[in-house]
Amino acid sequence: MTIVYIGLGSNIGDRVGNIQRALAILKGKKPFSLLRVSSLYRTAPVGYEAQEWFANAVAEGETSLAPSALLELLQSIEKEMGRDTPFKWGPRNIDLDLLLYGNRIIHEANLTVPHPLADQRRFVMEPLAELAPEGMHPTTGTTFREILKQLGTNQFVERMENPS
Ligand code: ADP
Ligand code: MG
Repeated sequence: MTIVYIGLGSNIGDRVGNIQRALAILKGKKPFSLLRVSSLYRTAPVGYEAQEWFANAVAEGETSLAPSALLELLQSIEKEMGRDTPFKWGPRNIDLDLLLYGNRIIHEANLTVPHPLADQRRFVMEPLAELAPEGMHPTTGTTFREILKQLGTNQFVERMENPS
């Protein structure tokens, strides 16, 4: 069994509802156990900025699935939810990224773990550091708390107090 972290994001339609639905689907999948979920965060788009704000969260799970099989599972949930994204970094109703797979470093054609931009994105590091502040980035050996601190506050990320 391996502890994994999954990043969830949505900026089309009922963002919070989309993330909750993805989590509910994920919860029912085997062999995967959903252990903990971070708070939901309201975040500014990064990369392509002329789009709506995002809801983001990070989920911690445990699985015996190999990394590529886990990615396929995440993609099947995106598909089940009718994922629609017109272009890279563009708006999407749901995005499920494999952020971390234990402390493995993976470079495959369609899978890079740790997710390559995770440590530059506050919308990932804020919920990740909430769940695992002392967790360590497998490539740099830096804790998530420290990475978050170094990122500063130029990227807008706000914890939702009462998501519904
Ligand atoms: P992004 O999440 O970067 O906005 P997409 O969700 O459209 O983009 O994913 C594009 C591709 O990224 C997928 O086809 C997938 O194979 C690849 N990919 C590589 N590494 C990962 C990862 N760690 N998690 C999710 N997708 C990944
Ligand atoms: Mg993705």
